Amino acid sequence: MAASSLRDEVTDLLSRLIRVDTTNPPGNETAAAELLRDYLESSGVECELLARVPERANLVARIRGRGDGPTLLLLGHTDVVLADPAEWSVPPFSGEVRDGEVWGRGALDMKGQVAANAVAFASLVRDGFEPQGDLIFAATADEEVGDDFGLSWLCTEHPDAVRCDYAINEGGGDRVELGGGAYYFCGTAEKMTAPFRIRVHGRSGHASMPGIADNALVHAATLIERIAAYVPEPQIQQEVEAFFRAVVGDVPAPRHAAARAREVSELAGALVEALLAPTFAPTLISASRKRNVIPALCEVEVDCRILPGQSPAELEPMVRAALGDGIAYDLEFLEAQGGTRSALDTPLWAAVEGFVAETDPEARAVPACNTGFTDSHWLREAFGTVAYGFFPARALPVEVAATLIHSADERVPVADLELGVRWLRYAARAVCG
Ligand SMILES: [Zn+2]
Repeated sequence: MAASSLRDEVTDLLSRLIRVDTTNPPGNETAAAELLRDYLESSGVECELLARVPERANLVARIRGRGDGPTLLLLGHTDVVLADPAEWSVPPFSGEVRDGEVWGRGALDMKGQVAANAVAFASLVRDGFEPQGDLIFAATADEEVGDDFGLSWLCTEHPDAVRCDYAINEGGGDRVELGGGAYYFCGTAEKMTAPFRIRVHGRSGHASMPGIADNALVHAATLIERIAAYVPEPQIQQEVEAFFRAVVGDVPAPRHAAARAREVSELAGALVEALLAPTFAPTLISASRKRNVIPALCEVEVDCRILPGQSPAELEPMVRAALGDGIAYDLEFLEAQGGTRSALDTPLWAAVEGFVAETDPEARAVPACNTGFTDSHWLREAFGTVAYGFFPARALPVEVAATLIHSADERVPVADLELGVRWLRYAARAVCG
């Protein structure tokens, strides 16, 4: 099939997908799953809807391999975050095509990739693609909130539907120009969120006579300052090392790494800094509920992200060192999530490099660790899957794209959708054989 018609096909499918409002909560992803099922079935693809509750279905489809070659999953989530129409220049669920871009909530995160997955998959079926290993398509619910209706639920309840050796997901692929070179960053690892709560005790009293009480909020202020000022020992992990080798040419000592990256660009500096060690960001606080009552208890929640390979258990001594002595507190670790890494010497990595070399010979593919996490960790944890975030994008400057995700006027260039379809077809042939 000619490339131009695949471009029209993915543009049309994305427009229709955006028009299905899957704002999560509540999600209602079944409507998107049914739209994708109808589309795929018209190309002769058999689909399965798997749902924990009827209105939040996941869609899975499969091209069976002829042999026992490696299996590849094209993964995407169909839910989106809230859009306030007042902030938008077009209605956020219009799916309007304007000046070569498809506009609407989810265009970048991530209905564009979902539509490209579906078109790559359907077009391979029409081409009579007969891989050695299975090629799997999954459009899943509930990535944005994560209440166990989507991929986590599939991994537990229907593992045979999504078990795979390799997976391509969101979380990378933007073309970035840095220090005179061009790079496509591929998300091969993710930090773990390991939040914790600090509980500081005092003694309540009337706020008109502070001397009779012991103000927990004031003590907490000292702890907040200490944790915000704390700089953990930096280390250079393999993704940051790859960044320096590609962009700078050599690898600095860990304590010089952030400054060295900042010489390349301000953004590179901030990004590398967040990947050298755990980060601590106090974000929530609660104390007295009455202005004239001095609080006996103050609770502070800290958003903490640790490096892949580090465990929350290693974190505790670090947090206690940061909080120091002299103020009594209790420490409670909340539920940790994410924080996984995939290997780099894999056929999927070879496919990423091969595609970049073929499509954009001046650019290079570079592995990257994401400061946030995606659904990839469910696959890595359940099946040891090599999962990468890679959906190549070069028509929209990365600085612009970054401001549109989860924000107003989200849109994706049709040229990037077409590039994405080409990448996914390339990867399926390269990996499944
Ligand atoms: Zn997403």
